[in-house]
Amino acid sequence: MINQERIVNSFMDYVRISSPTKQEGKFAEFISEELKSLGMEVTIDDAGPKVGSDTGNVIAKLKGTAKGETILFSCHMDTVSPGIDIKPEIRDGVIYSDGTTVLGGDDKAGIAAVVEAIRAIKENNLPHADIEIAFSIFEEGGLHGAKNLDYSNLQSKRAFILDSGGEPGQIIVKGPAQDKIDVKVIGKSAHAGVAPEEGISAIMVASSAINRMKLLRIDEETTANIGTIEGGSVTNIVTPEVIIKAEARSLDNDKLKAQSDHMVECFEAAASEFGAKVECEVVRMYSAFSVDVNDPIVTTTMKACENIGLKPFTASSGGGSDTNVYNANGITAINLGIGEKKPHTLEEHLHIKDLVDSSRLVMELIKIHLA
Ligand SMILES: [Zn+2]
Repeated sequence: MINQERIVNSFMDYVRISSPTKQEGKFAEFISEELKSLGMEVTIDDAGPKVGSDTGNVIAKLKGTAKGETILFSCHMDTVSPGIDIKPEIRDGVIYSDGTTVLGGDDKAGIAAVVEAIRAIKENNLPHADIEIAFSIFEEGGLHGAKNLDYSNLQSKRAFILDSGGEPGQIIVKGPAQDKIDVKVIGKSAHAGVAPEEGISAIMVASSAINRMKLLRIDEETTANIGTIEGGSVTNIVTPEVIIKAEARSLDNDKLKAQSDHMVECFEAAASEFGAKVECEVVRMYSAFSVDVNDPIVTTTMKACENIGLKPFTASSGGGSDTNVYNANGITAINLGIGEKKPHTLEEHLHIKDLVDSSRLVMELIKIHLA
């Protein structure tokens, strides 16, 4: 029932409309019209001005024709750079960009899968319960659209995010929490040749702190990394200031707190040994989520996959997605694999078969949630 030619054409149209992060407006308008033409009630929320984007999140609702559980499908509209003027090409059943941009299948493959499923259901007069859709802004670089969504406006207790690189059948049930750790080490400048003893080298303080720090792979669930170090300008001055940007992630919120605390303590200990000062800011970017593999959302999704000949399997993710935010806001959410290959690179590509399978899965999820 999924029309392969139509979904491929839609997908190609979607990626041709540039929607870099914070400039999703043109695409939001286009997709809103499309959803309206399918009989959906569409609103754009007020998240845009709050996060500096030219549009809000697109929220669409389709009134049910039958009894069943209301479910939510969600994807993000923004794409990473370089993502302006994407020119998709098809070769041997696979869609690529022309090599100068990303493809933008992250996450428009998800959007195409959801829209085609709704279209096929309407076209074939198939029964469905109430369906909700949220197409978010500003997912890349902070999940800001989802963070500013009005959850009280949604009925769904279950959400399916279509935004994972795995093949259709993959069900992400765990995602890490992430802390951003910004540190400023304040030493004291002095002439390095004339009076070095009067200086406190911020570089030495930072080195000493980092040297005593547990980093990279901490345990099975936890990672940490120093991303950038900036400071100093010339060799004859004892460097007075260094700015460090770091991150830590864990599938366990408590383990993450312990790791971030540890990193801050290392900086503080080194600073006090050298008589320097240190300012540390730890910001929780998003919380971890973990959906039990026996939760009905997982078992139902596995059944839906099997019903259409996909092999279901659960996995955990190393990165954050809107899934983290939905779970933090009381909606049980899982992230589905949509076959996005090499996202965030110029080699990004998508097998047409995976696009079609993702859409078939959305249709089956709608069917399986009928009472
Ligand atoms: Zn994505």
